Amino acid sequence: PLATLADPTLLKTAALIDGAWVDRGEHFAVTDPATGQVLAQVANLGAADAEAALAAAARAWPAWRAKTAKERASVLMKWYQLLLQHADDLARIMTAEQGKPLAEAKGEVGYGASFIEWFAEEAKRVYGETVPTTDNNKRYLVLKQAMGVCAAITPWNFPIAMITRKVAPALAAGCPVVIKPAEQTPLSALAVAELAQRAGMPAGVLNVLTADAERSIQIGNVLCASDTVRHLSFTGSTEVGRILMKQCAPTIKKLSLELGGNAPFIVFDDADLDSAVEGAMISKYRNAGQTCVCANRLYVQAGVYDAFVEKLAAKVKAIKVGNGFEAGVTQGPLIDEAALAKVESHVADALAKGAKLLTGGQRIGERFYSPTVLAQATGEMLCAREETFGPVAPVFRFETEAEVVALANDTEFGLASYFYSRDVGRIFRVGEALEYGMVGINTGLISTAEVPFGGVKQSGLGREGSHHGIDDYVEIKYLCLGDI
Ligand code: ADP
Repeated sequence: PLATLADPTLLKTAALIDGAWVDRGEHFAVTDPATGQVLAQVANLGAADAEAALAAAARAWPAWRAKTAKERASVLMKWYQLLLQHADDLARIMTAEQGKPLAEAKGEVGYGASFIEWFAEEAKRVYGETVPTTDNNKRYLVLKQAMGVCAAITPWNFPIAMITRKVAPALAAGCPVVIKPAEQTPLSALAVAELAQRAGMPAGVLNVLTADAERSIQIGNVLCASDTVRHLSFTGSTEVGRILMKQCAPTIKKLSLELGGNAPFIVFDDADLDSAVEGAMISKYRNAGQTCVCANRLYVQAGVYDAFVEKLAAKVKAIKVGNGFEAGVTQGPLIDEAALAKVESHVADALAKGAKLLTGGQRIGERFYSPTVLAQATGEMLCAREETFGPVAPVFRFETEAEVVALANDTEFGLASYFYSRDVGRIFRVGEALEYGMVGINTGLISTAEVPFGGVKQSGLGREGSHHGIDDYVEIKYLCLGDI
């Protein structure tokens, strides 16, 4: 699938350290999840390379920090434009290694690029403060300064966007970055890094450490333990987030964490039912259900329950499963065998506990799972408590607003939530009562570069995107000027 790139030089298999492409002769295979075919052998780096990348980033910091915000913004803008120019190739690389349908991959390139554009603009607006004095002999000033070398560990489900939304604010603020992309999707990361080089990113400002699962842990250890690293940003599972947080404790590192979710998707009796079904389709089945903001539990009020599940099942039957490169395919493979096994276990558990299968419920070949709707779901089922991360919609019945708000909040997670209602009072009540970082109301698609993305409770720390997104990468410094 990668033979037809318009610009084959975007296909990099070496890592990027200090502006040089590094390959020490050890490799790991990157495979196409749709076919199992090996796409490339990528440089398998280790702890010593992580130290070298951190040293390069530390050397690059003073000059990058000393550039004016406008100068940094201009490099970022160029990078942004290069991503858009090469969107077709980037999408092909992404579909090949991640599996999502080509149209979705292209959508992610645009979405990922938009964070670079946004933070290029925000670079110029990192304002400080002057504080009214309480002593006429003194003046109080507040500066926001680049924090220093930042590290980013990213997942495979959005191979480009999860990188740009960490790296762009860091670079905009004046911080160099060391990225450790997911072992499943390093090719997208490297292609994006190649474009950063072409945009004029100075050596050492942006480094990419590729590694297999085992070496990723070793590199993670170095990044967490290092005194050079002032900030670690991670998107991935809550379980790994906890490990990284613990590893960062000795150096009191600042952390941004985007972890797991267990998103409720609530449909009230007064909802526009067709719109709710449409929203559920987008929120649940996008990326084959492999996003941290995917609806995990659908709660539908008794009065519209039967009509909703019938309409939803009809739409779900129309999803076309297959290789993401094939025209018309709307759902690709799951990322790996472990992902398939988890989906199968959630469905088997639900059926054993009385769920009714309306459609789907089985593997297709080795690597695909049929989009599934389960009616009569209950709180005892695994899918009520754990993130399924696959194309399975369990639909629960509820009676009252108070009941469903309590059910929705009864989880340690708090990332995205959704509800459908046309009642303005209810919209405010429920919007305020949901213990989530994000609430989609009458929509299943909420994320864009201009707004703060992030979770509460065990879904994470910090916000990405929006004018808040740069806060994680600056330190606040207070200057007290006496003897006026
Ligand atoms: P997912 O559930 O999305 O596969 P993970 O949390 O397992 O997410 O992985 C996300 C990222 O974290 C990947 O880049 C992976 O290599 C990295 N990772 C996984 N385990 C560790 C670890 N113990 N230390 C450092 N990085 C890790």
